[in-house]
Amino acid sequence: MRIDMMEFIPVTLQRKETFAIARSSSAIAEVVFLAVHSGRRVGHGCAAPTEVTRENVHSVMNTLQSFARSLPGIEFEKPYQLQERMDKLAANQPSARAALEMALFDLAAQAAGVPLFAYLGGRRDRMPTDMTIGIMDKDAAVDRARRWVQVGFQALKIKVGRDWKADAKRVKAIRDAVGKHVELRVDGNQGYSMSDALAFARYARSEDVAFFEQPVSVDDWEGMRALTESSPIPIMADEMVLTPDDVKKLRWSNAARAVNMKLMKHGGILRSMEVNTLCESAGYPTMVGCMGEPQLSIAAGLHFALAQKNVRWLDLDSHFNFASDPTSGLRFENGQLIAPSGPGLGIDVQFPT
Ligand SMILES: [Mg+2]
Repeated sequence: MRIDMMEFIPVTLQRKETFAIARSSSAIAEVVFLAVHSGRRVGHGCAAPTEVTRENVHSVMNTLQSFARSLPGIEFEKPYQLQERMDKLAANQPSARAALEMALFDLAAQAAGVPLFAYLGGRRDRMPTDMTIGIMDKDAAVDRARRWVQVGFQALKIKVGRDWKADAKRVKAIRDAVGKHVELRVDGNQGYSMSDALAFARYARSEDVAFFEQPVSVDDWEGMRALTESSPIPIMADEMVLTPDDVKKLRWSNAARAVNMKLMKHGGILRSMEVNTLCESAGYPTMVGCMGEPQLSIAAGLHFALAQKNVRWLDLDSHFNFASDPTSGLRFENGQLIAPSGPGLGIDVQFPT
């Protein structure tokens, strides 16, 4: 396969409603779509830069421009053959790297005539995902929770991290509304102090919350360690894990019991495999999560998750909340996200004009 030409375009996706987490809120998601042409085939990718990855649309466009200048004409059979080159061109731009790499994987799996999850060695084609409920008042959160359970979700992730007592009341109200068979997870997005996080964790245990994501700041390794040792529910690291070395540090510091992985944070599928392998050897089950992403890159995360047995949970839900999405092809049934059965990512892309 030869890379003939690359096209990319920034797109602003409108959310159906403002999404609030501990330290920020947003009514839009800014992404960059990428198409890599190879003969008659086109591979697609998407970058969703955020503060967590220390990128923005401008830096991603610059990185994709450097790809477009240096990659056309290059031959490859497997995406890993371009790994070093991608690392060099996209140093510290993990979501831009993820976009290019998923387009290359899309092309390679199309050429092999199989869905990407099968190309990566996976056998299952679906997994349950949760739905995330942002920070909002208690009654509104209960209303959202009821609606999502009605459409089939069997797990809900509740954003917390502003005021632990109000958060506890909201979690209780949701638990009372949805019953004991729906799995509840919570995500502090670095919003709590260590002592508030511990108080909240003790309460969350009584509401049978499955795990507690990134309760305190990414800089507070000591707080994460103390919580990991004292919290009655497992602590999961998210924003503090971008690279394979971060997982090693996490293990040496005993600063979590599980990790939320995202293709955008780690720089694509190959780096995510490294992160997941290290997590597995450390005894950390992983979740595959997302930024504010359209179906295209959500599908890439799903294909990756389907091929990795250490991935225990999915949090691939952002595409449900856009007013419109130029990409489509994922199905959702009985709480499970289903990968398309066609070759490659299997996603239809209508580039916005
Ligand atoms: Mg998180």
